[in-house]
Amino acid sequence: MKVLIADDSAISRRLLEVALRTWGYEVVVASNGDEAWESLQGPDAPRLAILDWMMPGMSGPEVCRRVRAKNDERYTYILLVTSRSDKEDLIEGMEAGADDYITKPFDRNELKVRLGPGRRIVELQDALLKAQEALREQATKDGLTKLWNRRSILEILSRELARSEREKTPLGIVLGDLDHFKAVNDTHGHLVGDSVLRVAARRMLASCRSYDAVGRYGGEEFLLVLPGCDERAAETQAERMRFEIESKPIPTPAGEIRVTSSFGVTAAPGGETFSPDEAIKAADEALYAAKERGRNCVVGLPLARRGA
Ligand code: GH3
Ligand code: MG
Ligand code: MG
Repeated sequence: MKVLIADDSAISRRLLEVALRTWGYEVVVASNGDEAWESLQGPDAPRLAILDWMMPGMSGPEVCRRVRAKNDERYTYILLVTSRSDKEDLIEGMEAGADDYITKPFDRNELKVRLGPGRRIVELQDALLKAQEALREQATKDGLTKLWNRRSILEILSRELARSEREKTPLGIVLGDLDHFKAVNDTHGHLVGDSVLRVAARRMLASCRSYDAVGRYGGEEFLLVLPGCDERAAETQAERMRFEIESKPIPTPAGEIRVTSSFGVTAAPGGETFSPDEAIKAADEALYAAKERGRNCVVGLPLARRGA
């Protein structure tokens, strides 16, 4: 585990550094408060910090206050080192957000045991964050394809339709569906069907831009939300995906399989109100037309106000 030592005395720094390295910590050093604050930034920053109280620039408690004010998702455990033994000072240090303090001159073993709880807190919090992230992933992503799940992609569609209206920018909406997919399952079994779905999803995602959203709308149906794309641009994008899926055979446990897909495309022009239902209905009609036209193709339909 990485530890920051911030102390303006080179001797104290060196002593601490040697001790910490002996106990197996990776050490980062700072010789003043500003440097300490700097080293606590960024994703790779130490999560344990031993801060001297008195330092040029920012003091230990000031660094503490800043760290707490920033309220990072990842917790930094802070141990203040002070030569003061006055109670008032200690209270000030703890109120600044320090987790613990140690008074100089300190005993090596005392420092060692006082770092233990810090280490445990950081490790526990990491485990918690990981579990939280896994839950978030489960709630928003489709387990098989890792694309957005139905609920998430519908939320994205709703949000982007509102943005398209507000910012007067077009929004492409695409429904894709694998052709004769039932036959893949019937011939090779459901597990092979699953592999095909996974690869088709990956190919769609790979041919998208980073700000496009791709979700699994239903069994073998995909919903794509393409910000900034008018109908023509969305058709071009759908055509690229159609080609990617068709052009290379898909390796599966039952050998290579070729599949094709059909796409229905529509677009909100921007500056007009459309509901997610209206957008999906138009894309679905276009998809139906693509299937009618013989499958393995892209059909676009304008998104007109319904029921007018
Ligand atoms: P079309 O070209 O008209 O789309 O024909 P199709 O056979 O693809 O369409 P249909 O709607 O008749 O069948 C869809 C099939 O997709 C049926 C269902 O078993 C299969 N399916 C849906 N979800 C999954 C899944 O998660 N895994 C697998 N393996 N198959 C799935
Ligand atoms: Mg199908
Ligand atoms: Mg279908």
